[in-house]
Amino acid sequence: MNRLKQAISEKGVVISDGVLKVDSFLNHQIDPALTLEIGKEFAERFKNQEITKILTLESSGIAPSLTTALELGVPVIFSRKKKSLTLSSNLLTAKVYSYTKDETNEITVSKDFIVEGDKVLIIDDFLANGEAALGLTSLVKQANATVVGIGIVIEKSFQPGRDKLEQAGFHVESLARISSLKNKKVGFIEEMVA
Ligand code: 5GP
Repeated sequence: MNRLKQAISEKGVVISDGVLKVDSFLNHQIDPALTLEIGKEFAERFKNQEITKILTLESSGIAPSLTTALELGVPVIFSRKKKSLTLSSNLLTAKVYSYTKDETNEITVSKDFIVEGDKVLIIDDFLANGEAALGLTSLVKQANATVVGIGIVIEKSFQPGRDKLEQAGFHVESLARISSLKNKKVGFIEEMVA
């Protein structure tokens, strides 16, 4: 997605060979027009899949999930990273290790919102080692629902997440695929346009 790649090139800050900061349009300040376009692109890529729900992880997955959900006409559920006072029982849970933060979170979703038969599209902001996305697929599986696909805003293709998800049988669509962050420069995998 060209507009996203342009935003990454112009506004992204390479923190290290492995970490990209995009706080000015995705992870802290949010660019609404770009997020709307991201939602349209995900909706186009996953149309005709009879999606019933979108599942994401708080907090940076929520904005692109919402714009996708508006296009597809389905609800968004965001998994919580910390236990909520009002959400303490009747939960689906999975453990997710974060390499960037070096901590394990238990992510939770109420059993009320993902139910047997749901066809779930998972969306997240970044794909690195695939832990967050795999944790979300585990929640869907526990509910006897189906993951129809995984939509990622920014994939770091030099890290093993995509391979892990594909080996587990999931269909992954990423809107920007980064080949390298070496020498403080963002390199992209050029996709063939159909
Ligand atoms: P994974 O679980 O695939 O290893 O990592 C995905 C999660 O880690 C994302 O939800 C995102 O919050 C965070 N993350 C991983 N790599 C990066 C990065 O380079 N930049 C930012 N901003 N977040 C990242």
